[in-house]
Order: sequence, then structure tokens, then C-alpha cells
Amino acid sequence: LTAPGQRFEIETVDIRGVPTRTWKQAPASLALLTAFSRSHGSREFLIYEDERITYDAHFRAVAQLAHKLIEMGVGKGDRVAFAMRNLPEWTLIFFATTAIGAIAVPLNAWWTGGEMTYGVNDSGAKLLILDGERHERLKDCYADMPGLERILVTRAKAPLAAPAEPFEPLVGPTAGWATLDEVGLPPIAMTIQPDDEVAIFYTSGTTGAPKGALGTHRNMLSNIFSTGYGAARMLLRRGEVPPAVPEPKVNLIVIPFFHVTACSAFLMGNMVAGGTIVLMRKWDATEALKLIERERINATGGVPTIAWQLIEHPDRANYDLSSLESIAYGGAPSAPELVRRIHAEFGALPGNGWGMTETMATVTSHQGEDYLNRPDSCGPPVPVAELKVMDPEGKRELPVGETGELWAKGPMVVKGYWNKPEATAETFIDGWVRTGDLARLDEEGFCYIVDRAKDIIIRGGENIYSIEVENVLYAHPAVTDAALVGVPHKTLGEEPAAVVHLCPGCAASEAELQAWVAKHLAAFKVPVAVKFVDHVLPRNANGKILKKELRAMFGAGAG
Ligand code: AMP
Repeated sequence: LTAPGQRFEIETVDIRGVPTRTWKQAPASLALLTAFSRSHGSREFLIYEDERITYDAHFRAVAQLAHKLIEMGVGKGDRVAFAMRNLPEWTLIFFATTAIGAIAVPLNAWWTGGEMTYGVNDSGAKLLILDGERHERLKDCYADMPGLERILVTRAKAPLAAPAEPFEPLVGPTAGWATLDEVGLPPIAMTIQPDDEVAIFYTSGTTGAPKGALGTHRNMLSNIFSTGYGAARMLLRRGEVPPAVPEPKVNLIVIPFFHVTACSAFLMGNMVAGGTIVLMRKWDATEALKLIERERINATGGVPTIAWQLIEHPDRANYDLSSLESIAYGGAPSAPELVRRIHAEFGALPGNGWGMTETMATVTSHQGEDYLNRPDSCGPPVPVAELKVMDPEGKRELPVGETGELWAKGPMVVKGYWNKPEATAETFIDGWVRTGDLARLDEEGFCYIVDRAKDIIIRGGENIYSIEVENVLYAHPAVTDAALVGVPHKTLGEEPAAVVHLCPGCAASEAELQAWVAKHLAAFKVPVAVKFVDHVLPRNANGKILKKELRAMFGAGAG
């Protein structure tokens, strides 16, 4: 990051490995993307409640914070962990950290103390930055995070005591960012290569504990090329020429930035185009409708649940939603019915993309007429990605039309899991990632997700690994056998429900077991219903619980 007028004297390499100095065609690191975004100048970048932050102001704050991080001793490869709502500080911390070659560790803001302590310690973070709400919730856990050198709190709710310190002295409140003067700051001499590590995003693993997907600059930047692809393909099919750079749009981002989809597809895609991002403190469908009308929002979505809640809102007709052009989502299966209704009821174009944390977001992209014609597909792979369908043993590629495990390859596939060589070796094979999704491809390469081989429940886009919740249930003194299953829910897609068997002579109520899970895990993982059986749970010959039979116990769904 240099002062205005100074040039980047860095040899850059684009995502295909071609050396270039004109990064506009091919940014090689997030530092260059951040610096480029300044060219959008006085355009509004972030809107959060009454805070309106331009690209220029955001850049000034990033430059300032990047220097402060260096002063604190944060260097290349060091981890900076942070957890907060979708505040402007989130993007500031993310881009300042990655601009100096350090590794951003965005933690799930809904995690409880135990989960958060695990994330901080597992990543070996030097620095933890929290918002006031999380500080109040986690302050008793700081003693269990011995590797931390500093704990900074933004928007504190009460005066802070050691070891917590305020974040604001570093860059001031957002209102002051535009006046920060980065001209006097020395240029940061830093060589960042595309395959240097940039971020660790945690994803729950089949072993129970979350695993950090370790992404590189190349992984994240490949999304910039993918973001505009679905729209470009739609225009080409109509015989129109797509713009070289996507047009700037006003986007309502309602899914948390700590999910890669929000961070790389939505946030970074906007930074290329110069689009505006409107943030919400908390998802609320009525608030979202108000914001769409007030800010003339062009695009929103994130996960299918969001689209359902907007469609089904009883007062929808009272708002002017005519600015909406697209509602796009991924992260969870969506019903073909949703595709038709988005088009019919909003006049907006639906969009879908498949991706996972291990791919740092977009692998397939599906938009407009293509999606309306194939509403059960999540689209074809973006040009830089490849897909194949393999037999369950992972030995043989299956022919077109057959269902098997989906494998994906491309510059978005991460290096592996942080400090987990065994899990890495199982999941990442010769550049391919085994996705754990069951899918088929058609003759034109469109992908159809059929089911999941991995035992997860996706509640409104939030993944719940059954084994993690089952392990907590097993830890309850009265429980001897437990299984978590997904029960259908109209707008959330699925919700977790549990079936348990208690030890002879033991007693525990549904509410007690729910409270037990809530004590250990984030609220979205708590079973909405618990059923008790007087026998151990049915298993197949390999000892795997037959969850299909258990799901039937909940009938049409608990929600
Ligand atoms: P995460 O790592 O939290 O992003 O979750 C990735 C998982 O979400 C995938 O492996 C799929 O099971 C599911 N998923 C993501 N995108 C889609 C989509 N467009 N359609 C269906 N399932 C999806």
C-alpha cells in the first residue's frame, strides 16, 4: 500500500501464472485488489445503519490499520483472528491483515466460548479483535487463549479492562476514516505471491471439531473472475456483449462475512465493480424490505432461506421493490419452485452458485434464463473450474448422467486444512477436492446436486455437522446413544432434531438436553426437537446409524 501517485513496483503473477504488471487484468494478491478499489474514489462502498463509507475512506482506514498491525509486530504469515457482526470493521480488518501478508482468521460470530477458544488456539492467532457483544460473551475465556498477544474490542458496550483494549484508537470511528491521512505513511515493502496463504475459514469437520480451510490469494482472487461469469453467459446467450468489468450495483448483503460466499463472492466481487454494499446488523425480513426500498437495492440473496422469507413476507406488497434485478444464492439446496417465484413475483432474475469453504466459494454459476430453464441445477462450472463425478470409492470417474460423489478442481481449491495433514490427505487428491456431495452432470456440463454423502444438516445456509452435536449429547451423563437428523423446514430448508436413548434408570427431558447443547454449541446447532427411544439406535452392518428411519419419526417436520 503506497501513498497516492506512487506505483507498485512489484512483479505480479496472474492466476494462470502469467507475469504482468497491469493488475487491472490480473490482481495477484488481495493487497492489490484493496489498492485498486480506491480507484472507485467517492463511490459509496459500505452502508451500515447511518454510517456511509466511501471506497476512498475505506482505503485510508485499511492503510492506517495495516501500518498499526505492523507496529504491533504482526508479520507475514501471522494469524489475526476476528469475530463480529457484519460491521464495516470486518472488511477493514480483513483487508488490512491480508494486505501485509498476514493470515486473516474470520471466526463464526455465533460460536460460543468453547468453539471460539478452539478457533483462536487452533489457528495460533496473535491478535483477536471482537465487537462489544462478543467481548461480553467471551471475556471469561481469554485466560484459555494463551497464544494471544493482544485483544482489541470495537464498539465496546462497557469500559474495557485488561487484557481487552479498545480498537477505535487505531483508526477512529467510521465517521473519521475519510480524514485519515495515509500520505505520510511509508510504503509497505512486502512481496506477496499468489500462492501465499491469505485466510483460514473454519468449516465443521466429520471428526467433530471444526477444521480451518487454508486459502491462498489465488484461491480468493479466482472468485473475481467467477463472479461476473453467470451474468456474462446470460448476456452472450441473448446476443449482447457483456461489459469488461461488471457494472456497479447496490447489494444488500445479509449473510455473514465469515462465510466464504459473502466474503469472496459478494464482497470482493463488488470491490472490482465499484458496487455498494448495504449491511444489516441482524437478518430481519421486514428490515430488508425497508432497505431495498430506501437504498434502491439491485441485488440480494445469499442463501435460499433469505429469498423464501422475502417472498413469503405478508407486507411485501407495501414496499417498492422495483429496483431489484437479481436474487442469487448458494450454500444449500433450493427448490425449483423458488426459482419460478423469484422471477414471477419480483420480476428479478434468480441466480445459484455451488461452492464450499474448501473452494473459497464459487465453483458453479447459474443465472437468468439458464436457471429458469434448469431450476433443479446449480449450473455449470465457471471457466476456471472442473467438475467430475466419481464412484463412492473415489477410484473411477462415472459417465455423464450417473450419480456419484462430486469432485472439483481449479484455482479456488484451497491448499488443505490448517495443521491437519491426515484430513487434508483424505479430502484433497491431486488438485481435486472431494466434496461429499452426491451429484450428476448432464451433457452440457450442468451440475445437479442430488444428496449429501457427508452427514451435515444445512439450516438456512448454516452447516451443522451431526457428529459435533451428537458428541455433545453423548457427553450428557444420561445419554447412551444419540443421533442428529435434519427435518424439513419450509424456509430454512432443514432444522436439526435429535433422537436419544437414555441409560437405564436415567432421566433427562427434551428441554434439559436442548439447554445442554446450547451451553456448548452455537444456538443454530441446538435440536428443535428431541425424541426418546427405549432401545439403542438402528445401525447398518458397518455400524452407521440408519438416519433415514429416524427422520421418519419427525413426520413432515418439526418447524
Ligand atoms: P460450506 O462449506 O459451509 O460453504 O458448505 C458447503 C456445502 O453446502 C456443499 O458441500 C453443499 O452440500 C452445500 N451447497 C453449497 N452450495 C450449494 C448449492 N448451490 N446447491 C446445493 N447445495 C449447496
